[in-house]
Amino acid sequence: MSECIFCMVAAGDIPARVVYEDDTIIAFDDIAPQAPVHTLIIPRDHYEHLGSGVPAEVLSALFAAVPKVAAAKGVEESGYRVVVNNGRDAMQTVHHLHVHVFGGRAMAHGMVHFDEGRP
Ligand code: 5GP
Ligand code: ZN
Repeated sequence: MSECIFCMVAAGDIPARVVYEDDTIIAFDDIAPQAPVHTLIIPRDHYEHLGSGVPAEVLSALFAAVPKVAAAKGVEESGYRVVVNNGRDAMQTVHHLHVHVFGGRAMAHGMVHFDEGRP
């Protein structure tokens, strides 16, 4: 999809700080990090979200990349949180499937924060 920013990152048309890549996925630092380590892992091919018929080998490659990203960012031992915002209620803003890897600082226990202004 030509208007998709993550397709543009995958194509090298938008510069990104690449952390790890293989034939199926590419991992790069988030442009607006919400933790000392905040890296995104995306499939090179465009899938909107987890419900978009993503082949099992692509899901496998995405999650196999997680510990590699963690090692590259130096958080393998300290730990990290892995998040996929999937669809509207999860506040997915870029509609190209991506896995967030957060780390570098101890996090709170709560994983879910609701927008009080929305039903
Ligand atoms: P979402 O809210 O869809 O789960 O996360 C999208 C993420 O993509 C956000 O954390 C946002 O900062 C990041 N992002 C949006 N545009 C760009 C970009 O052009 N480059 C990079 N590296 N990250 C981006
Ligand atoms: Zn895309």
